[in-house]
Amino acid sequence: MAVKKQPAPYAQLYSGDFPVGANYQQAWIPVRCAEHHFEYLKTGVACSCAPGPAIHMLMTAAREICAGGQRGGMKSETGRGWLMKGNPYEPQDHAVNQSYVNHPQYRALVLRENEKDLADWLSRAKMLYGKLGATVTEKPARVSWPSGATFVCGHLKDDSAWTDYQGQEFHRMVFEELTQIPKELLYELVIASCRSTFLCRDGCVRGQCRCGVLVPQVFTTTNPGGPGHGWVKNRFVSLGQPNVVYKTGGGTRIFIPSRLEDNPYLMRDEAYKAALENISDDNMRRAWRYGDWDIAAGQYFPTFRVKPNPDEPPEARHVIPTGSRVLLPWWPRWLSMDWGFKHHAACHVWCYDQQQGQTIAYREHGFTGTGSTEIGESIAKALLPDLERARSAGANPNFNLYLSPEQFGKRDEGDTVPELLAKGIQRVLGPDSVYIPELWGDGGNPGREFAAQRKLGVTIQRAKNARVPGWQTMREMMRWKPLAQPAMDKFDPEYAAILFQQDPLRWQRYNEAFQAPKKREILPKLLIYDSCPGLIKGIVEAVHKDETEDVLKTDTPGDDFLESGRYGVHSFDPTKAKEPDGVYVQRMVSEAGATDMNSVYMISRHAEEQLKLAGNNSSGLVLGRMSGRRAKMRVN
Ligand SMILES: [Zn+2]
Ligand SMILES: [Zn+2]
Repeated sequence: MAVKKQPAPYAQLYSGDFPVGANYQQAWIPVRCAEHHFEYLKTGVACSCAPGPAIHMLMTAAREICAGGQRGGMKSETGRGWLMKGNPYEPQDHAVNQSYVNHPQYRALVLRENEKDLADWLSRAKMLYGKLGATVTEKPARVSWPSGATFVCGHLKDDSAWTDYQGQEFHRMVFEELTQIPKELLYELVIASCRSTFLCRDGCVRGQCRCGVLVPQVFTTTNPGGPGHGWVKNRFVSLGQPNVVYKTGGGTRIFIPSRLEDNPYLMRDEAYKAALENISDDNMRRAWRYGDWDIAAGQYFPTFRVKPNPDEPPEARHVIPTGSRVLLPWWPRWLSMDWGFKHHAACHVWCYDQQQGQTIAYREHGFTGTGSTEIGESIAKALLPDLERARSAGANPNFNLYLSPEQFGKRDEGDTVPELLAKGIQRVLGPDSVYIPELWGDGGNPGREFAAQRKLGVTIQRAKNARVPGWQTMREMMRWKPLAQPAMDKFDPEYAAILFQQDPLRWQRYNEAFQAPKKREILPKLLIYDSCPGLIKGIVEAVHKDETEDVLKTDTPGDDFLESGRYGVHSFDPTKAKEPDGVYVQRMVSEAGATDMNSVYMISRHAEEQLKLAGNNSSGLVLGRMSGRRAKMRVN
């Protein structure tokens, strides 16, 4: 079919002499109902069953569509048809509403995993689009339409794939195998180019627009598993209900699951179905055959939950709303900071809940292109209220800041990073507020004295750097599943009988050991406020580095937040932190349940004596308050 490649002037689209162009629906018929699809092809009569996922994918107006689920769910094929669809809700007598390929400036981007997949996609595209007069070439990988519309195709293994497409205008994008993209940021950088300068000019009501509108949309296909499993699950699968459009920060998203059963062509192939059902690897089978997203596919933190899955206990969650916990002022607090390249810096503020035994990341700071002194200043400003409350509660108002170790030797405009941070902190908290033991030694500015003075301040220390033990500490702190009970020997009735004769107490213990273990709920030891998105994202996206126990580094800002998280949980053991003397005395009083002033006085005196014996200097906080009240009582 010799088609003169001569783009029609855009104005022709409205003049009426531009014919209704390629009718893609004659070349490609989506599967409306898998069960009656072949009948429909034969008779042309549609059944009355509810439309299947392919129709949802073609009709949804969501900006980002994620077609995910089982292998063989026809997602790729639907994606090829989707690229041709028009504006289904607008009058179909207009060429562009019928199909975007009739628009001379329509541009689409197709990204596949690697060169081989791309070649496969192009050969299938040739069969389908060729029927409508399109030319498909491999070098460059393009689909060119008679109207002038173009599909640009590429693959992700090409180093320039990410940068080449940024900044251009693509009205539609198709990503195949989305979970092959390890980091959400890479995806976000490319979809930033999904936009349109061809929008409705006349403010038409819906159903009456003949402006030749090109609505920007992204279509992704994916199966569970792969290095991007975590972020894809989080971005689409965990949105809420499938097949429902959700509004998110930047636009709208929908997750449309599809099953092998939705593909009438593959369902005829018993061998294909059997092959999927007989995959020996448990995770792979659950992912490919059953589209199960709850598999631990190479994720480093498989038990991490932004929220619990439907079949999991409520304590299976690590992200909690900001401010949902009362963080008492005397609980241990500390900071962690990762100083990345090019002035990327990530910082977290932590608090240890002494009642529940949980560590909570409650504040996050992220900086790019900011000088160290400014960073110190801004962190100190945010920290000031916490320090002041700690001091008034009688706790040590000097928090440790654990900084990435490599910063202690590096010079940044003459001073080291910790020294520049110190300058910034001092601007807010005063000249004697920072102490860096490693650089300043114990001589000039003795840290202990400094803490004893109860001055507000920060002590900058080297973070513990061992990567694998650090990651494992994080993982262990996330645990919410009870450990499996150790295997027990079989109950031996003869031995029990002997024990009963000899020692009833041992007999009783022996019996108890074989009773069904009580179900114990386990609270995860690590919680994160939802105002710490960098850390949450870093954990969700973390994958194993090859076959090692280390986390793969990707040199994106997400790395910095995750590293800061590791420093935070691994550099400091809050369980060893002592509660302030005043709090100890108060706790003794309340635990004794004393009500009358006399016994309150006696118990607090006793607690203070205990502290003195233990070699602590009592703050006198509680006692002072108590004596005050006593004095008043006497007056009355
Ligand atoms: Zn049907
Ligand atoms: Zn319009």
